[in-house]
Amino acid sequence: MHTTTSQSLYHEALDVIVGGVNSPSRSFRAVGGDYPIFMKSAKGAYFWDEDDNQYIDYLAAFGPIILGHAHPVITKAIQDVTEQGILYGTPTEKEVRFAQMIRNAIPSMEQIRFVNSGTEAVMTTIRLARAYTGRDKIIKFAGCYHGHSDLVLVAAGSGPSTLGIPDSAGIPASIAGEVITVPFNDPEALSLALDHWSDQVAGILVEPLVGNFGIVPPQPEFLQQVNQLAHQAGALVIYDEVITAFRFHFGGVQTMYQVEPDLTALGKIIGGGLPIGAYGGKKKIMEKVAPMGPMYQAGTMAGNPLSISAGMACLTELSQEGTYDQLASMGEQLESEIWNAAKKYNHTIQLNRQSGALTVYFCDQPVTDYDGAQKSDSKKFGQFFHLMLQEGIYLAPSKYEAWFLTTAHSQEDINKTIEAIYKSFKNLPHS
Ligand code: PMP
Repeated sequence: MHTTTSQSLYHEALDVIVGGVNSPSRSFRAVGGDYPIFMKSAKGAYFWDEDDNQYIDYLAAFGPIILGHAHPVITKAIQDVTEQGILYGTPTEKEVRFAQMIRNAIPSMEQIRFVNSGTEAVMTTIRLARAYTGRDKIIKFAGCYHGHSDLVLVAAGSGPSTLGIPDSAGIPASIAGEVITVPFNDPEALSLALDHWSDQVAGILVEPLVGNFGIVPPQPEFLQQVNQLAHQAGALVIYDEVITAFRFHFGGVQTMYQVEPDLTALGKIIGGGLPIGAYGGKKKIMEKVAPMGPMYQAGTMAGNPLSISAGMACLTELSQEGTYDQLASMGEQLESEIWNAAKKYNHTIQLNRQSGALTVYFCDQPVTDYDGAQKSDSKKFGQFFHLMLQEGIYLAPSKYEAWFLTTAHSQEDINKTIEAIYKSFKNLPHS
């Protein structure tokens, strides 16, 4: 496979775009690659790069592309908007209808505000929790990435740890000092932290099913314990469902497990591939937001007709009968073949899967928290990643990311992927 055009574009990019990429997770540094692949076009489950190589895509743009690329319903929704004007700076009916659609699927979001990214959504839920409780501190879970706002880049994992940078430079110690980090799935650690700082904690920020050090589900009762401990301490529970909402079923992880947070942040899938974020929660809390209350948040592009229409088209498609069963059944097939292939060629792996999203770890203990995920062998993952790439399978270039199935993947794609998995494990060095 020749990728020389990507190589030369990368050299040009390095000159003009810092690091050659517009988001560090797109770089191939974490997987030992000299240059990332530059894609030229995409349709359904496929990508084509600048040298016309075809790949089956399991990146799904880090999550949003759950219907595959250039889905006709989303394309049509976008085209319709372009003829009606793309940005008004006024309220529109579509925003109301979309908010209603989301609230029907995730009832704890009694009131909603649209923003432009997951980062903005999470950042604002934190401000709101602080405004509502009059407290400053936030508890988060080690390794969970919640966007790139100052407060949550403390022990963030995902992007930063992929690069081997523990956190980020440029964050004042005074801000980092407001963040308490505890291990995921560890109610005792959470309880101890709350005992110590109880009357200072505004909120507990949690990915109810982690998507950022791979797919890591909560252990039974963990989410209930988070709620109970938070509320005893007078703190709010904030769910970051930027990755998880509408990923596993038509709703959030909260509706899947029937646990209600006070506030929720959304992004990714709800934009159908266009930039979006949303936050929402209990009405009595949301009423603190301007113009109703004293907590300010605004956005020129917020609720823009393109993102709202693409998002509505995406959720309408996802709500069709059988969609999530299809994703889960493809996920199940991949899971069982990955285990078989690893066993056949004597490689020790762990695999976590929820429906159509899975992560393969190269380690010998089940992964239930960030410490466990970190033990996954980076070198082995990098080798596996490149072997799969050579077979035309595009995985996320990080051991901490998931393989995302989309409704565009066909049985033929799955069969080809399974062939590539066997070949890659066969050729994967043992040490
Ligand atoms: N929260 C989570 C759980 C995420 O995975 C991400 C992005 N990967 C974000 C927040 C930030 O979203 P965005 O990149 O849209 O700002």
